[in-house]
Amino acid sequence: MTNPAVVGIDLGTTFSLAAFVENGRPKVVRDNNGVALVPSCISFHDDGSVLVGSAAKARALSDPEHTIFSVKRLMGRTLADLERELKLIPHQIVERETDTGRKVLRVKIAGHEYTPEELSALILREVRTRAGNPTKAVITVPAYFDDSQRQATRDAGRIAGLDVLRIVNEPTAAALAYGLDKRGSGTIAVYDLGGGTFDCSVLALSEGVFKVLSTNGDTYLGGDDFDRALMQVAASEMGVDLTTRDAELLQYLRDAAERTKIALTSAESAEMRVELPSHAFTRVFTRAEFETLIKPHIDRSIDRCRSALRDAALTPAQVDEVVLVGGSSRIPYVRKRVAEFFGRTPHTDLNPDEVVALGAAVQADILTSGRRDMLLLDVVPLSLGIETLGGVVDKVIHRNSTVPVRHTSRYTTGADKQTAILLNIYQGERELTKDCRFLGTFKLGGIPPMPAQFAQVDVTFLVNQDGMLTVSAKELRSGAAATVTIQPAHGLTPAEVDQLVTDSIQNAEADFTERRMVELRNKAATDMRHTEKALATAGERLTPEQRAKIATATTDLRAAIGVSDLAGLQHAIDAFGAATNPLAHLLMNEVLKQALGGADPEKLDATKL
Ligand code: ADP
Ligand code: MG
Repeated sequence: MTNPAVVGIDLGTTFSLAAFVENGRPKVVRDNNGVALVPSCISFHDDGSVLVGSAAKARALSDPEHTIFSVKRLMGRTLADLERELKLIPHQIVERETDTGRKVLRVKIAGHEYTPEELSALILREVRTRAGNPTKAVITVPAYFDDSQRQATRDAGRIAGLDVLRIVNEPTAAALAYGLDKRGSGTIAVYDLGGGTFDCSVLALSEGVFKVLSTNGDTYLGGDDFDRALMQVAASEMGVDLTTRDAELLQYLRDAAERTKIALTSAESAEMRVELPSHAFTRVFTRAEFETLIKPHIDRSIDRCRSALRDAALTPAQVDEVVLVGGSSRIPYVRKRVAEFFGRTPHTDLNPDEVVALGAAVQADILTSGRRDMLLLDVVPLSLGIETLGGVVDKVIHRNSTVPVRHTSRYTTGADKQTAILLNIYQGERELTKDCRFLGTFKLGGIPPMPAQFAQVDVTFLVNQDGMLTVSAKELRSGAAATVTIQPAHGLTPAEVDQLVTDSIQNAEADFTERRMVELRNKAATDMRHTEKALATAGERLTPEQRAKIATATTDLRAAIGVSDLAGLQHAIDAFGAATNPLAHLLMNEVLKQALGGADPEKLDATKL
């Protein structure tokens, strides 16, 4: 093998591996024994040495305290995100704050503390060494990874000495590995069932260009669940309590269960053997029994496929190609269920645990050779927007928009002589800021003092290929401008993403009413404030009848603001508008003339124009 300069790396929860393109064909990097998969496992020794891969996995049995798995689950997370993980990881995890106030997670292991990025870097370094030390790489991540998880992965690559050319979604890489781009156009579903995670993505291909239409998944669904199901049966029959703190026994049982599971992929029945001084046990499992055990998990994965199709507004029959990814997709029952659901035979020619790395290698080759003219497009997993008056999120980029994506919305100032505008950026599907995730904030200053609603501020959101968000704002009359790149201090868990999406569907109607109410109340208050001021300057020039009409309309409007009646409030606002119309006409020129004066920097809200 010639040493490749650039590789594609599948940094998996359970296994990692690299691939590269040689003579126009992608191939995985294998060791002298022909093994490509590197267990994503690290062990630390008292003498300071560190083992990565199968050597570390072997050590897990006898020395679980010095061994760590599933680091991928910790990437880009905060302690608050990790409630579920903490129970499964036998190491103390702490959170430290850096000088810049950014939260950093650290795993305590063998008397030292490591960040998840550093631990992943150890795995990447091992994979990199096996590939002959390339300097550039494309690294894949689950489609569900959010900004901070992608950033953490990128950082891990850097720590491992790699120039990370791009972060690519795993399902997109899988479709590339099968060369599906060559079919020109069509719809592709990618079903990826790995060790601990499940992903389903729907891709559209047109004129050889991929676009991810939707993604869905579950970060707690995979082969580990099937191992656990077998373990539970064995443990109950053996009289072993699985809540035991005997880490060695648990690890032994887990290994025995996994071996049985893998045997059942190619045989109708398999024996699970436990041969420990303390415990001896033998049990035959049939494939049918195993299928009953895993059925609820597979049902759940099919539900996720259904959701992904719904997001893409497609039926199973509209899917042209189905690709199977992940070691667990070797299970015959999984293949059968996927084939049934989509009504077609899935692609299975490539090894399902190598296909992502192969696709990453193809992508790496495209990026470095410039030979092929192909774009890879992915989607924004959650809507992005800014806070407007009253805690309402105005969505600038919608969920499932294809990246790169850029969108501009226009806002204005809500107060007279407002010289700055504060932009609070949120991620989420709900209408109100309190139900969305705060991503960051920045201030656009230098706006010349003008009457309320005169400034025109264009706010542009740009999400690049890697899913990073940049927000820029420009006031059109003065040219004042500011830009910020959002690097969230932490990420959303996929479960939260799911929850946010479900919440938003369930609460859509209530949200909408609440949002309209907030908007209308804001409008009413602003209108009244302006009228009050206008009356002070020009009230004398109105007729007594006109003034009386305004007084009545004001009383009615004030009353309507106090009750939760959307139609009533809208009506009062319209009546108020009609009553104040003569005043508005009178004042048009007046306002323009007395426009300039001192600033009112306290009022910073953005107002939708
Ligand atoms: P990752 O989650 O890192 O993407 P993989 O895609 O490599 O992991 O999948 C690993 C999972 O696949 C493990 O749970 C492993 O037990 C399972 N697996 C591998 N080979 C088989 C097989 N022949 N039959 C059933 N499960 C398998
Ligand atoms: Mg995988």
